[in-house]
Amino acid sequence: MKILLDVNIVVDICAERLPFFKKATQVFAWLMNKNIQPYLYSGSVQTLIYSLATQIHKLDRPFSKSLEIARNELNKFSESVYWWSALSEDGQVFLDKDPEDAQLIKAVNRMSEDSFLLTRDKQLLKRFNKAISPEKFIQKYIESELEWQKSIPFCDLKKQLDEYRPEIESSINQVLESTTFINGPAVKTLAEDLSSFSGVKHSIPCASGTDALLLAFMALNVKPGDEIIVPAFTFIASGSMVSFYKAVPVFADVDSVTFNIDPEEIKKKITKKTVGIIPVSLYGQCPPMEEINKIAAENNLWVIEDAAQSFGADYNGKKSCNLSTMATTSFFPAKPLGCYGDGGAVFTNNDALADKVRLYANHGQAKRYYHSEIGINGRMDSLQAAVVSTKLKHFNNEIDARNRVAEMYTERLKDIFKTPEVLSTNRSTWAQYTIRSEKRDVIREKLSEKDIPTAIHYPMPLPRQEAFSYLGQNDSFPVSDMLSEQVLSLPMHPFITEEEIDFICNTIKEVLND
Ligand SMILES: *Cc1c(COP(=O)(O)O)cnc(C)c1O
Repeated sequence: MKILLDVNIVVDICAERLPFFKKATQVFAWLMNKNIQPYLYSGSVQTLIYSLATQIHKLDRPFSKSLEIARNELNKFSESVYWWSALSEDGQVFLDKDPEDAQLIKAVNRMSEDSFLLTRDKQLLKRFNKAISPEKFIQKYIESELEWQKSIPFCDLKKQLDEYRPEIESSINQVLESTTFINGPAVKTLAEDLSSFSGVKHSIPCASGTDALLLAFMALNVKPGDEIIVPAFTFIASGSMVSFYKAVPVFADVDSVTFNIDPEEIKKKITKKTVGIIPVSLYGQCPPMEEINKIAAENNLWVIEDAAQSFGADYNGKKSCNLSTMATTSFFPAKPLGCYGDGGAVFTNNDALADKVRLYANHGQAKRYYHSEIGINGRMDSLQAAVVSTKLKHFNNEIDARNRVAEMYTERLKDIFKTPEVLSTNRSTWAQYTIRSEKRDVIREKLSEKDIPTAIHYPMPLPRQEAFSYLGQNDSFPVSDMLSEQVLSLPMHPFITEEEIDFICNTIKEVLND
């Protein structure tokens, strides 16, 4: 739900216009208190300044002084609201008897279904079914017992968009204007941005985290029948791309504290056919990469860090994606750094491998229509690149916020659950905040009854998946089996509030006592 403030409401509040301002201010204060930031329509700026200045001028101030006061007041006011864009379609209103009202109606109709316009303009209240007056608002929401339905999202992409909307819109618009949708300047910029953030020499944006793995295998010249060691407890792509490439995923069990691949288990799975290891940085925390790299070096293996959940994480003073032969990540929207579609990237400090990835991601052509290798279309598009670059500017703050959220959860839950542990070598990006409980399924069902979303990452270890049954690997994976029955991921994003965390944790405690 969104609330757009009409000009008259803003002027009432800013000029304390009698008798109207009391009700308008009451609504505004209530919204602020509920942490619901209203919106101003960016097409209304001129009217806002002029109307407020006119109102101030009535108090016997010269008009030029009134204008200055109005601008300052509005500038201050705008800090506590979000902007809602004027789009080109808003220009087509000349034939309307009130063009400004027609623009507002268009603007509100672009918002989610349940949004409305707060106004005391009688015409608007009559002609627009989403217009509501402050009186009506107070009756309907503030005085009544009606609960304001604001559910807790598992991952709040809406709030994130509200926070960065002006930058994101202008970066998307820049790509639209350039009409270079594939391999445009935005993709080049992103490659540079990712490298300066992670410290890796080569960052190659690509179509998804899944394609990133495939491109890494192509660059490393993986052959049919090659064995690649993969954790038994991860998202399907870490293993399925190995199979898709006709290589053989060999599963290794994970550590019961970090849920990441266990170096001792890796050692047990190495054979003459082994060519590489894919440690996954699960939930945003890197595995013990030094140990894994050492095992790899001793056995002449490569290492690909599957950092789909951990871009931005730290390990021993270095960044995730800068810890091994190659690394891959995903910008799927729900990952810590996400785009508005599918996207991913491949990382390496090796020039030759980087060149190969670039070649394979673009049909094996270095020169257009001249193909030196068999490749794929694994490119990221410019719109996604622009979105990731924009969000990357805020990513350090978001990682800090995610860490604060994790601390708050742990403080409240550590006495009753096995809460996540981050090793002293690590800083996590908290792709997931995942607790463990033998009563997982009961807790999950009761939380869902109270509209608290949860998820299970993951309900079945990879070697138990039907898709891998052809491998006939019947080893036991006791930790992975136990985790798949006990893990429960709680809502995690940078914008979750302490009240929401309290609500979630108290509800969990109630459920446990039931
Ligand atoms: C999300 C994810 C992937 C796949 O990334 P996509 O961009 O969705 O293709 C691969 N590995 C892991 C561990 C993931 O979490």
